[in-house]
Amino acid sequence: MYKCCNLKKLFRFLIINIMILSLCSVLIPVAKRFFFSYAAEKEEPVSLPVIMYHSVYETQPSEYIVTPYQIESDFIWLKNNGYTSVTAADLINYTRNQGELPEKPVLITLDDGFYNNLSEFLPLLEKYDMHAIVSVVGKYSESLAPNDPHSSAYSYLTWEDISNLADSGRVEIGNHTYDMHCGNGIRRGCSIAAGETEEQYHDILFNDLTLLQQELYRCTGITPVVFAYPFGYISRESLPIIRECGFLITLTCYERMNYITRDPDCLLGISRYNRSGAYSTEEFMERLTKENSVR
Ligand SMILES: [Zn+2]
Repeated sequence: MYKCCNLKKLFRFLIINIMILSLCSVLIPVAKRFFFSYAAEKEEPVSLPVIMYHSVYETQPSEYIVTPYQIESDFIWLKNNGYTSVTAADLINYTRNQGELPEKPVLITLDDGFYNNLSEFLPLLEKYDMHAIVSVVGKYSESLAPNDPHSSAYSYLTWEDISNLADSGRVEIGNHTYDMHCGNGIRRGCSIAAGETEEQYHDILFNDLTLLQQELYRCTGITPVVFAYPFGYISRESLPIIRECGFLITLTCYERMNYITRDPDCLLGISRYNRSGAYSTEEFMERLTKENSVR
């Protein structure tokens, strides 16, 4: 009798424990998911200043030309002020919840694909442990660059130069259109032209962007996920075409701070400050790192 009671109690005890464990195995993952999604919702957006350089060589600085000395001065300022340069991949991973960003990230970009991005800029990226996105214009690399004796002052990157940049591990390549880097009175950059239907515009932009994607892949094995709007001219109609081409980050010329969240769409329309050679490093950095009053 005594033994039977104890066995009954033990059996009841085991059943209750099994029920509690089963309940926990269901409730804990639900609670975890709830907690983490709540934490993600509450996560503060990350401020991301983005610099846009163009040409870099030893000359009189201007709006689109800076000297190697100015670049060094910029990089030293960024280092001394705790900034870490991030890559396009870092940003994409962050928005997909597959990585984190440093406390003070900065994104460095260069437009137009000048040869000096390889000859002058890359050694400085290596010296200061920085990364950058170089957005190239297909026609410049295909038609102009091969016929030029390479000069830091005016030449463009050849396909081989682009490969060398990418192989350095310091540079990601962006698409800056194959042949829409111009304002011809009909169209500004790659924006929609007056009187053009959305269908006509779709074909023109899609064909141009995919031509550069195909040429880059054929000649260098690279498929860019970054697109830089020529001159920052944007049409509302361009966004679905840009998505269709597979771009995950688009770069504009709006001069303001970016706020990066876990939403991948926040990378479409990244604002950038043009680094004019007319500014001192301190003057430029003050503008670049200023927070917006409205986020
Ligand atoms: Zn450009």
